[in-house]
Amino acid sequence: MAGEFPESWYAASAGKPKDWPALAGDVTADVCVIGGGFTGLSTALSLAEQGRDVVLLEARQVGWGASGRNGGQMIHGFVGQDRVAKHAGADKAASVRALTWAGHDLIRARVDTYGIDCDLTPGWLEVALTPRQNAGLYHQYNEMETLYPDRGFHYMGPDELEERIGTKRYLGGFLSKSDGHLHPLKLCFGLAAAADGLGVKIHEHSAVTKIEPGETVAIHTAGGTVRAKELVLAANAHNDLFKRRMSGFAFPAGSFMIATEPLSGEQLARLNPNRWAICDSNMVCDYYRMGADGRILFGGRVNFSGRKPRSIKAKLLPRLLKTWPELEGIKVTHEWGGKLGVSIGEVPLVGQIGDNIWYSFGYTGHGVNMGNLMGKVVAEAMMGDRARFDLLADVPKWRLPFGRTIGRQIVASAILYYKLRDRL
Ligand SMILES: Cc1cc2nc3c(=O)[nH]c(=O)nc-3n(C[C@H](O)[C@H](O)[C@H](O)COP(=O)(O)OP(=O)(O)OC[C@H]3O[C@@H](n4cnc5c(N)ncnc54)[C@H](O)[C@@H]3O)c2cc1C
Repeated sequence: MAGEFPESWYAASAGKPKDWPALAGDVTADVCVIGGGFTGLSTALSLAEQGRDVVLLEARQVGWGASGRNGGQMIHGFVGQDRVAKHAGADKAASVRALTWAGHDLIRARVDTYGIDCDLTPGWLEVALTPRQNAGLYHQYNEMETLYPDRGFHYMGPDELEERIGTKRYLGGFLSKSDGHLHPLKLCFGLAAAADGLGVKIHEHSAVTKIEPGETVAIHTAGGTVRAKELVLAANAHNDLFKRRMSGFAFPAGSFMIATEPLSGEQLARLNPNRWAICDSNMVCDYYRMGADGRILFGGRVNFSGRKPRSIKAKLLPRLLKTWPELEGIKVTHEWGGKLGVSIGEVPLVGQIGDNIWYSFGYTGHGVNMGNLMGKVVAEAMMGDRARFDLLADVPKWRLPFGRTIGRQIVASAILYYKLRDRL
């Protein structure tokens, strides 16, 4: 059935709290949110916390998009933060810096407030494969340690890495105990349940087919219409809404994952006893972590064709075995892919169409932190506090003017260039 989840380990282990009904008939609301991923759910929850009357429309199911399929790596800051800081100027530097940890703090606060069980685990390790990457990582470690001395950073050389994560593959590693990882689909379901509890009307299987802007925005699905004073587009880079206005700024990139069978206690103790999430410094990186039951969740590769490789396992398992050759023969239980939004200007795409239509997308692989944060930031702006919203919205946006097809090829060529550079 259209809108079923992919056969991911996440879908197999999340436990959906309920199915929400499709929109039927005409309704009114203060705000209509399109998209049931981190951005949409976080916006809806933040608005409901402030007493706004919200309807959320999701084309498939809550968490069906990138938010329910990703690597679950909760990484501080965002791609393009330097560009935002430069544009904001010295007097707002502290506000830009404050965004670095705001997404993590928000996720942790919500996990506590709403009792969301999403296997939140501390520890994220970036590892270097080349001397150039290692020098960059060490520089980054020193910079971050100076800026945030209490965040639990630690730099490791190859011997310590071998001791801590059982591999000789890497030249250096930068550990952050303030970053971490989580089960992303469980987080989506937890946010949806929290929003539902505060009165947000969630409608799944309700794809928006047409939007009529105006003082009251009319948002149409096959089953009905929402008339709202304001609209939030939280449908990621691969939606067809406002195509002429929105295309060319971000492109959907396919990324892929496998899950293995759970490791034995002995293997876990040898390979990753602290259960850190790990990501290498390549532009197209390998990212992996342990699921709560001890299995490895390993992701990587990108493509812009929109096609799923015939065997994701064949692409990813050899990469996992390069790190941990002793796992030769391990079974792969699940494989799946998803699409993330890559922003051309590297800065998340945040802004408005007219006065009452808001959007946020294009987090370029940092959407666990940024999707959750930007949902709150958009809601704040709608409630009158634009300070954090404007930091990102005011940055000039870069657009590829050649339409979707050629644009994708240009992005694919750029990625190929970076892949080659990583290899050299
Ligand atoms: C395989 C993979 C691994 C990743 N790993 C990481 C990671 O480890 N760490 C990290 O920080 N980020 C990661 N990301 C990126 C991250 O998942 C995304 O940036 C983030 O989830 C985007 O959230 P979103 O809410 O904006 O979009 P989505 O989660 O994609 O949600 C958009 C929703 O809008 C709905 N929608 C679209 N069109 C319509 C319509 N017309 N009507 C109604 N609904 C509509 C879709 O069905 C979808 O559910 C990864 C992404 C992928 C695909």
